[in-house]
Amino acid sequence: MKKRNTIDILIIDESAADARLLQIMLKDGSFVGNITSSPNIQSVLNNQLEQSHQIILVDIGLFPESKLQQLLLLTQKTDAYTIAISSSNDKKLNIDALKAGADDFMVKGRFSSEELLDKIEFTLIKYQHKKQLHWAQRMSLLAPWSYNSSQKQVDLSQALFFLNKAQASYLALEIESAISDALTGKICQKEIQYVLAGNDDVLKEKKYYLVTIENFKDKAIPAVVKGTIQDISERKKANERLEETHQKYMDIFANSSDGIYLSTILGLPKECNKSGLEIFDIKDKDIPNSNLHHFFDKKNGHSVLIDIGHKKTIKNREIEIIRKDGTIRNCLLSVVYFSNESDMYTGILRDITERKIAEKIKQTRILEMESNQLKEQFIAAISHEMRTPMNAIIGLSNLLLDTTLNDEQRGYLKSIHHSSEQLLGILNDILDISSLKNGQIVFENKNFDIHDLLQNIVHNLSYKTPDKDVVIELYIDPDLPKILKGDKLRINQILYNLAGNAVKFTDKGSVKINCNLLGQSGDTVLVKFSIADTGIGIPKEKHDAIFESFTRIKHKERIFEGTGLGLAISKNLIEQQGGKIWVTSKIGVGSTFFFDLVLEIGDNIQVQNKEEANSNIVIVNPKRIMIVEDNKMNQLVARKLLAKRWPELDIIVANNGQEALDLVDEDFDVILMDLYMPVMDGYAATKALRQHENPNIQTLPILAMTADAQIQEGDKYLQYDLDGFIVKPFDPGLLYEKILTHLNRTHEKR
Ligand code: ADP
Repeated sequence: MKKRNTIDILIIDESAADARLLQIMLKDGSFVGNITSSPNIQSVLNNQLEQSHQIILVDIGLFPESKLQQLLLLTQKTDAYTIAISSSNDKKLNIDALKAGADDFMVKGRFSSEELLDKIEFTLIKYQHKKQLHWAQRMSLLAPWSYNSSQKQVDLSQALFFLNKAQASYLALEIESAISDALTGKICQKEIQYVLAGNDDVLKEKKYYLVTIENFKDKAIPAVVKGTIQDISERKKANERLEETHQKYMDIFANSSDGIYLSTILGLPKECNKSGLEIFDIKDKDIPNSNLHHFFDKKNGHSVLIDIGHKKTIKNREIEIIRKDGTIRNCLLSVVYFSNESDMYTGILRDITERKIAEKIKQTRILEMESNQLKEQFIAAISHEMRTPMNAIIGLSNLLLDTTLNDEQRGYLKSIHHSSEQLLGILNDILDISSLKNGQIVFENKNFDIHDLLQNIVHNLSYKTPDKDVVIELYIDPDLPKILKGDKLRINQILYNLAGNAVKFTDKGSVKINCNLLGQSGDTVLVKFSIADTGIGIPKEKHDAIFESFTRIKHKERIFEGTGLGLAISKNLIEQQGGKIWVTSKIGVGSTFFFDLVLEIGDNIQVQNKEEANSNIVIVNPKRIMIVEDNKMNQLVARKLLAKRWPELDIIVANNGQEALDLVDEDFDVILMDLYMPVMDGYAATKALRQHENPNIQTLPILAMTADAQIQEGDKYLQYDLDGFIVKPFDPGLLYEKILTHLNRTHEKR
């Protein structure tokens, strides 16, 4: 007797005697191994299937129908090799047993113990193969099926380890229809989807099966069609997830505002998204014939290419893309390589052209602002430099006019005087427009009498028109409150400019100044001013241009004085106060300039009280004045003007701030202080005087006497502890008025 391998055998037999008999036969054949027995398949299915039997000997008796059903369940669930032991030699029964999954069969009483053991040994070899096959099938969720063409039935029993009954019957139908398709040669593979029933839509799981049908194309359906079925759900789902991710990245690729391209490290593109095509200015169809690296600029782009050649990481490097038409896009380039082996890379281009332009504009604006500031400083400096000598010219010519002169001399002198006043006007205009353009003008909001203001203008203008046949008429809306709040000086300046032009450009007829109340809301009024003349008129195409700086209309037959700044200043002044200016005009008939302003209604009582208060003052005249001034001419002008008004006046002249400090005592009525002087300037001298040990000197009225016209802006002089200011060149009347005001204010205090 040969030595046999140790194996585990399970005997299933309802007859304990038969089971015992089998055991004895095995032992007789010197079987070495473990033998277990069980009375029926059901209890094995319930309990013992866990055990790792290699071989099951199962008695199927004489009534196989129910047994065959159970056998099928058993063979589906076990990897063990199953040998059916039948009680009959009935061939059909034995075939049925094989169909139910038995691997072999033996007829009871027809085999010796030797034959049994041989069978077991052969079976064991087959078992190894079967086990491997089963294992492979289980791993790959793959099973064979067969189709009986005469019974028209798909046998999916082998696939029941991964299919439940419902799935199996559904798939059987699908396979049947696939077989008829296969007949026409359409398919030999079919993918079938099956949705597992769930309570909730969300819980429903999708299953995918791949059915393969043996190839019988163009032939009749064979009696048995064979094929395989595989559960490919996991693979499908993984694919779907992959597809989803791919789609997501494709969406990002397609819709990214950055240009994204795939290229070899030599610049040959494989793909490029829409933004990329726009940056390079190429069409999708040009991609195969393009070299993207040819678009890189020579400078930065070149060094980038060297890095790409060496597969160096590139992050946000600035390069220029130079397109075929020569236009340039400024971009930030980032580069990602596929792998060390691949010569492909992904380039990401961020177009920063607009940003660059914006930066450039900003830079230009900053430069412009800086240059405006420089211009500003230059104008201030120049005007200061010009005002100082002008002060001497105007002042001295004023004084000279009061001396004995012959007619010829007086005529020349008047011309000098007139010209220098004109020059001063131009200087003021230039300074004004540059301050306005830089938004440096601060508007006052104080009570003023609009009637006084308008009447004054009419009064002053009528002096300008003695040799003209022009009447000046004034109309003020009776409903307009008399006292308004606003910047009286600026409104005066605007009206004086407009009315002055009207008189200048009119030889005959009238200049009508109207002031109308357009509306009132709470304590504000909308006032509309108009200045209508019957002068030469303005051509329509110039109606906008005249409001720009230095625009003047040329007249062949006549030359009018002017700089072309008046209207630009007026427009700026009006607009900065929230108003509007416009003109209507007809050549040869006349022009009307309109402007409107929103003003607050003023405080009537306050103005009147002040006037009354002023009327009670007894005017005190100055006795002792100090002039602090380094310019000899201006010293002379100031001295002469003061002496002319107050012949008894004691005038002390200091050449600079230091001298002023040396000469000062508490008996001065007023100190006139130039601001820019050598040794010690006016600011320092004022500061020193305010800190003087003698309290009476600390409070002396100090008036700045300066060519710096900007002293008027805001209340700048107050910051320097000055009591007031006079701008050079000054009107003598104004000088006297200012001295008197400060002198008397101090007297009131004392
Ligand atoms: P200016 O009077 O100093 O030349 P303006 O800015 O005040 O500068 O005016 C610009 C130009 O507009 C004038 O030179 C003149 O040609 C035209 N203009 C202004 N006002 C009138 C007017 N009332 N009638 C005719 N032309 C005018």
